[in-house]
Amino acid sequence: MLVNNYSIFEIMKTLVNHSFINKKVLIRVDFNVPLNDKLQVVDNTRIYAAKPTIDYVLNNGGSCILISHMGRPQGFSPDLSLKNIVSEVSKVLGRPVYFFSDCIGEEAENKSRLLEPGQVLLLENLRFYKEESEGDFDFAKKLSRHGTVFINDAFGAAHRAHASTTIISRFFKNNKFFGKLLEKEVLAIDKVLKSGEKPVLAIIGGAKVSSKITIIESMLDKIDHLIIGGGMVYTFIYALKGKIGNSIYEKDYANVALKIIDKAKSKNVLLHLPIDVVAGDNFSNNSNQKIFDVNNISKGWEGMDAGPKSLKLFESIILKCNTILWNGPLGVFEFENFAKGTIKIGDSIAKKTKLGAFSLVGGGDSVFAVKKYGLENKMSYVSTGGGAMLESLEGKILPGIKALID
Ligand code: AMP
Repeated sequence: MLVNNYSIFEIMKTLVNHSFINKKVLIRVDFNVPLNDKLQVVDNTRIYAAKPTIDYVLNNGGSCILISHMGRPQGFSPDLSLKNIVSEVSKVLGRPVYFFSDCIGEEAENKSRLLEPGQVLLLENLRFYKEESEGDFDFAKKLSRHGTVFINDAFGAAHRAHASTTIISRFFKNNKFFGKLLEKEVLAIDKVLKSGEKPVLAIIGGAKVSSKITIIESMLDKIDHLIIGGGMVYTFIYALKGKIGNSIYEKDYANVALKIIDKAKSKNVLLHLPIDVVAGDNFSNNSNQKIFDVNNISKGWEGMDAGPKSLKLFESIILKCNTILWNGPLGVFEFENFAKGTIKIGDSIAKKTKLGAFSLVGGGDSVFAVKKYGLENKMSYVSTGGGAMLESLEGKILPGIKALID
C-alpha cells in the first residue's frame, strides 16, 4: 500500500517497543458483535481480535478506555447498549471491565481519569450520538479527552470517516498508533496486492458483477489468475451467448463482463470460469438437482453451485498459486445442498496454504463460509472487516488509516 509514494510500512506507527507507563490509552475497537434475542454475544471473534492490542497496553503500564459502535441505532436503544457485552469482554480479556453509560461528558471523563494502570473501561455505544456517523469535530474532541494516546484497532470501521475512526486522530498529533489488528489487516492486504509471491490468484464469487466490478478491475493489475464463481458467472456466460436457463444475471452488465474478459487478456491474466454447474429447478435447498455444462443450462433450471469438473479445474489452479485471495462464495452456500463448491474451494485453499501459500479470505460471505465450515484456522489470514476489506482491495486508502499517518 503506497501513501504519498511511501510504503505504508515505512510510515505507520505501530505499538512495537512503545511503553505506555501511566498512560490513559483511548482505543477505538470494533466490538460490533452479533447478539441473540437474550442479548448475549453469539460470535466473539471481534473481541478476541482486539485482545492483543489491549493486552499490550495493559502489560506495558497503561490503562485502556475502549470505544466502539454496535449496530445502527437511531439514538439510545437498550438492545444495542455495550453494557450487554461487558461480561463477554471481561471473559475474553480475563480481567474485570468497568462500564460507563455514556461515551462523552464530564461523568464519563471522570471515570477514565480515575482508571489505574492495568484497568479497562468500556464506554457506551458511540452511535447513540448521531455526531459519530456525521464525523462531527466537537464530538471527536470530546471523545479525545479520555486519553493522551490514541490507538485505532477498528479495521472493520476504518472505511468510515466517522468521528471516532478518523476525525479523532487530529487531536493526537504524535500520539496515535496502529493497533495490532489494524497492522495485521494492512499487512495481509499488502501481501496480496503488492508483495505477494507469484503466481497470484484472486477467486471472486458472490451474487453480482455490479458489486464486484471495482475489485476485479483493481485486481487485474496485480494477479496472474482470476477465478470467477457464484451468481456472477451467468452474466459472463450470457454475455458470451451461452444458455443460462433461469440463472441470475445482470443484463446491463453484459458489456462490463466482456470488457473484463478483454482487459484480463491484455494484462496476461488467465480468467477461469466454471466448466459445469449444479443447477436446481427452483431456488430452494430441496429443489431437484442436475449438472449442466455452464454454457448450456436448460430452461427451468438455475445454476446454484460449481460442478465437479469446475472444482477439479479450480483446485489445479489453486495448487499452482502462491498467493491467494478469496472473496465471495462459489454458490448459494446458505442452502446446504448447494454448498459443496464453496466448501471444496475452501478445502483446496487450505491444502495449498499448508503447502506454504499465503491465503487471505476477505469480505463478508466468504468469511462467514470459512467460519461455518471450520476452515478459519487453515487460512493464512481471515479478515475481520467486510466493507473495509472490500474497499482496500478496490485499491482505496481507508480514511481511518490515512488519518493515522497524516
Ligand atoms: P456477495 O455478497 O456479493 O459476496 O454475494 C453473496 C451471495 O451470493 C450469497 O448470499 C450467495 O447465496 C449468493 N450466490 C452465490 N452464487 C449464487 C448463484 N449461483 N445464484 C444466486 N445467488 C448466488
